[in-house]
Formats: sequence, C-alpha cells, structure tokens
Amino acid sequence: MNLNINNMPFDEIPALWNFFYPVTGNLETTKDHAPALVKDYLNEDTNTEGLTSLYLHIPFCDTICTFCPFIKTTKYAENLVPYVDALVKEIKKLSSTPRLKGRKIDSIYIGGGTPSVLKPDQIKRLGEAITSNFDLADDYEWTFECAALTTTEDRVKAMTEVGVNRGSFGVQTFNQKFKKMFNLQWSDEQVQHTRDLMMHYFNACNMDLLYHLPGQTSAEILEDLHKSIALNTSSIDVYPLEYLAAEKNFLSKINKNRYPTPPLPLEKINQNKLIYDTLNQSGYFQNYVYTFTKKDAKYKRFKFSETIYGNYEDEFFALGIGGHSTFKGLSYDNVGDVKTYIEMVNKDILPIGRAMKYHAYERGLIFFPKKMRIGKKQLAKYNLDTYYYQKLNELESKNMIYQTADEFILTDEGKVWFANIMVELMPPEQRKALEYAVGSMQEAKDWKEESKTTVIST
Ligand code: SF4
Repeated sequence: MNLNINNMPFDEIPALWNFFYPVTGNLETTKDHAPALVKDYLNEDTNTEGLTSLYLHIPFCDTICTFCPFIKTTKYAENLVPYVDALVKEIKKLSSTPRLKGRKIDSIYIGGGTPSVLKPDQIKRLGEAITSNFDLADDYEWTFECAALTTTEDRVKAMTEVGVNRGSFGVQTFNQKFKKMFNLQWSDEQVQHTRDLMMHYFNACNMDLLYHLPGQTSAEILEDLHKSIALNTSSIDVYPLEYLAAEKNFLSKINKNRYPTPPLPLEKINQNKLIYDTLNQSGYFQNYVYTFTKKDAKYKRFKFSETIYGNYEDEFFALGIGGHSTFKGLSYDNVGDVKTYIEMVNKDILPIGRAMKYHAYERGLIFFPKKMRIGKKQLAKYNLDTYYYQKLNELESKNMIYQTADEFILTDEGKVWFANIMVELMPPEQRKALEYAVGSMQEAKDWKEESKTTVIST
C-alpha cells in the first residue's frame, strides 16, 4: 500500500471510532438512584420534533465471535423465556410513561447478541407487545438482526407478520483464515439463504462486513468486497474492527504474536479509502460513512442510525440488558446482567444501572462526520459556543470539510478521517471523558495500539 506521510492532517488516530455521545467516562453518574432519576424524566410529558427509536437487546448467541464487543452469552436455554417475559413487561412499562405514551416511533432495532435465536412464537410475542403498546409512525423502519446460523423461513415469516420490514445480518468476512480467527461458523450457503429470505420478505436487507483485520492485505479486502457486492443485498455496512472493544483473549493472542498485529494508523486510513472508492464505483452510494446502499434499492434510509447519531432532540430508548438510552438532558445504561435485569423488572423497578444528566446540544455536530453533512439552520438552533465554529474553520482549512450556503459537508479526504473529525469537534470535558474511557479499557484489556500516523511499517 502506498503510504504518504507528507501533510498529515492529524498526528494520531483515535483508539475508539464508535461510542455513544455524550461519553460517560470520568463524569459524574448516578448509580443507586438511577432508576428513580430516569423515572422522573420518563414522567415528563415531553414531545419532540426529532426522531424516536427503540432498541431491544437479545443477549444470546450460539457461538461467540472473538472480536465481538457486545454484551452476550451462549448459556441462554433456561433464560430465554423469562428474558422475553421481562422484555414484554419493560415494553409495557416504558410505553405507558408520559414521555412515550402516544409518541410516534420512527424506528425499532432488535439487536444483540443474536435475536434470531428467538423461536417464531417468541418473535411474535415480542413483536405484538411492541405493536400493541407503542404507536408506530406510518413510515416506520423496523430492523431485525439475524445470524446466518439461525435464520430460518419460519422465523423470518414471524418477523414479517409483526411488521418487521428490514433485515440485517453479519457476514464480517468470507475469508477462511479470518473466519477461523474470529470463530465465524456460518457457511456461504447459510449466508446466501439468509440474504435470499430477507430480500424476499423485507423491504431491505443489510449485511455487515469487517475490515482493519490483523495482517489483512488490500487483496483480501477487495476479495471480501467483491463477494459482498456479488451477494447483492440492499446495503453493506462496512465496519472497522475496534481492537480496544474486542475480547481480551483475542487481544492477548495478538500480544503474544499468535495473530498478526493490527494495521498501522495510515494503513487504516488507506483501507478506508480503498473501501469507499471500491463501493462508490460499484453501484452503491455512501449514505452514512459506514453504510453503502445500492442506488436501485427499494428502501434507502437507515433511520435507526440517524437517531443514534442524531441531534439533541432525537431520542432513543433501549430495552433489555446493557442497552444505552439518550434523550434530551439524560443518558443512561440498563444493567448488564440477565439475572439482575429479570429480577428488577419483575419487582417493577426500571432496570437502570447508571444515569448521567447532560444536555448534549452539540450531539448532532459531533456525529455529523457519520452522516457526512449537517445543515446550518439545524446547527443554529442550538446556539452553540464559538468554540465549535472555530473547530469547523480549522477543519475547513485542513480540507476535511467544506461549506455551502446551507450545509457543512465532509470532503472525500474528510470521510476517511471521520473518526478524527468527531474527536476534534468534541468539547474539552467530553474529550477528557473519552480519554478516560479509553485509558480504562486499555488497562483492563492490557492493550495498546500504535496511534501515530507518521509511523510506517518497515
Ligand atoms: S458478533 Fe453477533 S453473533 Fe458474534 S458473538 Fe457478537 S453478538 Fe454474537
């Protein structure tokens, strides 16, 4: 790969490219009284002119992928039914709060874990609990995440019957060497079958692909891309592997040289460029920085992502363990343990582990690199400090962004540096919180990666 270290816009790349905003980090959170605090906010009869999303977490998987950053377990046989029961109770409780009662829900995402471990009758039970307790917007989007190992026609039919209209499944890589490294057990036939079912029953089918893999070459990236393009799904989400978020055991194999090291920072940036160029030249458009949608796809949005990475007034509510919610003035996390979650819900306590008060008026600006553009009128609504506009000027002078009369827009060069731009735009207190979170994770996982963009491989 042709590395060019002249005129680097940034000296380092961030250790984390995916995070919720505001970042909790070292900022003061409420723990013991978190359920009561969240209850107060949910009791406010507040409407919003923004988007509203629901996320439901199903933390069960049949196999564990070694890179996986999500909360999950394979020991679920005895917990599946009580967990679904608890989710149904949480749906009823949340939907009856003044904040959500009668609110139109724009998008729902059932994620995990592997929600397709649910049996058809459990899918219907959960789905009917959602549709009978929440009001869905006329143009709602409802995604159900599946694993190719467990996607069957009777499950997909059950999803369709309750109103799911978008499917998503993880392929991650087609390469046998990396599949072994990550313990990915689905076959090419299962991947094809999952794609065919989703394209038949839903308006849209997304597949996830990973890159920045240890020792991955450009040729291997291109091979994965060409196989993904041949699969012909409505969209491809192409995610960089977040080493810091991966399982400690996986990282320790890299530390012990059993696996190759991650790509160097500038290789990562060049890989971004390779991927973006290839997909943009193959009939896809980049509607979000990670998401490439076919130009002729029936449904082209990903509203859930627009909300998670949305503006101050876009609110999302997570149900199930480990879920993260953000609404105007408050962010909170559900408890991360199945048993505790079920116990709290059964005692009619909101299953909240910690909460933080923070009015993130700047959220849309921090996440604008993910959406690649932000309207000036939208931004003006928040009366942001001049600090943010100075940052935008600096980014413009580095050719990372440009502006029209109405918008700030990432340049093609800015797209490949999007993670840096997000961090650049963060206010000092939030940057410190992110640094703290990164430092804690590095210590807990005994993991440090090269971050300097000027280091080149020998
Ligand atoms: S990537 Fe998905 S299927 Fe694999 S362990 Fe994580 S949640 Fe489970």
